[in-house]
Amino acid sequence: MKVTEHFAQSKGKTLISFEVLPPLKGGSMQAIFDTLDILMEFRPPFIDVTYHREEYIYKARPSGYYEKAAIRKRPGTVGICAAIMHRYKVDAVPHLICGGFSKDETENALIDLNFLGINNVLALRGDARRFEERFIPHEQGHTYALDLVRQIASMNQGRYLDPDIINGEKTDFCIGVAGYPEKHFEAPNLEIDLHYTKMKVEAGADYIVTQMFFDNRKYFEYVDACRRAGIDVPIVPGLKPITKRHQLTSIPRKFFVNFPHDLVDAVLKAPNDDAVRQIGIEWCAQQSLELKAAGVPCLHYYTMGDAETIKEVAKRAGF
Ligand code: FAD
Repeated sequence: MKVTEHFAQSKGKTLISFEVLPPLKGGSMQAIFDTLDILMEFRPPFIDVTYHREEYIYKARPSGYYEKAAIRKRPGTVGICAAIMHRYKVDAVPHLICGGFSKDETENALIDLNFLGINNVLALRGDARRFEERFIPHEQGHTYALDLVRQIASMNQGRYLDPDIINGEKTDFCIGVAGYPEKHFEAPNLEIDLHYTKMKVEAGADYIVTQMFFDNRKYFEYVDACRRAGIDVPIVPGLKPITKRHQLTSIPRKFFVNFPHDLVDAVLKAPNDDAVRQIGIEWCAQQSLELKAAGVPCLHYYTMGDAETIKEVAKRAGF
């Protein structure tokens, strides 16, 4: 079923969903099952699986020189989605990115998904690779998520890249896209960012999932701004509990989000990481309760391999 069909069927009840990361190359599928076995008691209607493009690493050679090599550390997104659907009978939402893909490869990936019976996709641009200053698209690929949304929407109309394909099968993808309550870090301001988000929706995006945030006001203001801008699709809040003191700096560095002062203060006063984890769980549970009371369609938790913490949050949030 499509994500938006799940929203429609929930009749106003807030759903719960989770995002998982593929294991590092050489790891086993069991790591994903171990995470999801813990979380399935909450009956999520869909699970997102992230996509990770290749990264550059520098390998030391016996000569003393370093060799630059591109490796994909977390392959397996599509296989994991199929395995999740098979094992748990829930829908899987693969993330698909522009980075590293030609339009042809994107088309073929979408055909694979379609043939596997996966009809949800979260369409993203992806980030710059390590050692690159900015996002560099594939020479025959897409520069923005907007272009990827357009390609998926075209396939939903039965239009493939090869104009000689007539009466091509119409895919039926439900398309999610990313949104940033604290604006995307490259956007000059929120208005411009929303302008492009609106274009993604006009191109065919069915719903938005937000970047994590730790202050619900950011989410509520963002939703208001979206509605004023004419963006009328469901906006799913993405949440992550803080669990370690060092995340006070690592999360803003990586995700360009702010921590409210009360949370920072509590974390700084905590005697150890166990206490930080409890503060993070309580904070995220309170965020969840307020968002549920506001009637959000779904709470989307970034598990980042820590299912036990997410389970505690979900329990306290009344799921
Ligand atoms: P876009 O929508 O393309 O926006 C990127 C920037 O360009 C923004 O500043 C926007 O304002 C601007 N812009 C957009 N369209 C245009 C245009 N037409 N002209 C000019 N400027 C434009 N990354 C991964 O690699 N794998 C994942 O699995 C993954 N999952 C994610 C899940 C969620 C819920 C979120 C919020 C992010 C995820 N990311 C993932 C990170 C994401 O790839 C980065 O945040 C990336 O920097 C931007 O992606 P986007 O899809 O928002 O890009």
